[in-house]
Amino acid sequence: MAIRKVARLGHPVLRQRAEEVPEAEIDSPRVQGIIDDLLVTMVEYDGAGLAAPQIHESVRIAVLVLDEQTDPHIWINPVITPIGDEMISSYEGCLSVPGMRGAVARHVEIEVDAVDRRGRALHFHLKGFPAIVAQHECDHLDGVLYIDKADRSTMTFLEEYRRFGPWPLEKDARADELSGDDADE
Ligand code: ZN
Repeated sequence: MAIRKVARLGHPVLRQRAEEVPEAEIDSPRVQGIIDDLLVTMVEYDGAGLAAPQIHESVRIAVLVLDEQTDPHIWINPVITPIGDEMISSYEGCLSVPGMRGAVARHVEIEVDAVDRRGRALHFHLKGFPAIVAQHECDHLDGVLYIDKADRSTMTFLEEYRRFGPWPLEKDARADELSGDDADE
């Protein structure tokens, strides 16, 4: 288990479509090692989520803290299905784009199918902040960063965000509450 360096904006690994993890490899030391490294690296960087490409591993694995009470989620090969058309904007940050915040519109409600580190099927129905984190992390597996989707006029340095923000968003002023503890993902 090791704390890994987080890849930053500009590193090509962040722009690749990550590979599916074959079912037969889930138990392998490599895959289990990537999961352990994701977990300790996320804690070290105080993130709300971390995807394998962010530690230079182009595989479809992400770890996420969806609430304070439960252990971090570990998702292998996650697939997101939006429920309905409702969108919500909130400020996001990313460990791979340090020191920035920007508002992104996401689906309010989603379903997620994935497998856990033992290969067991997972299914979740998520709404609000957990749904936002899930969409941010799963985008990483497709080589997409939140800045690709952010409203450019809302991009701000973290220091200015803390000094002058957070600003109410047009679509839903509650969005800032949703973004919770202001962690990077
Ligand atoms: Zn991110």
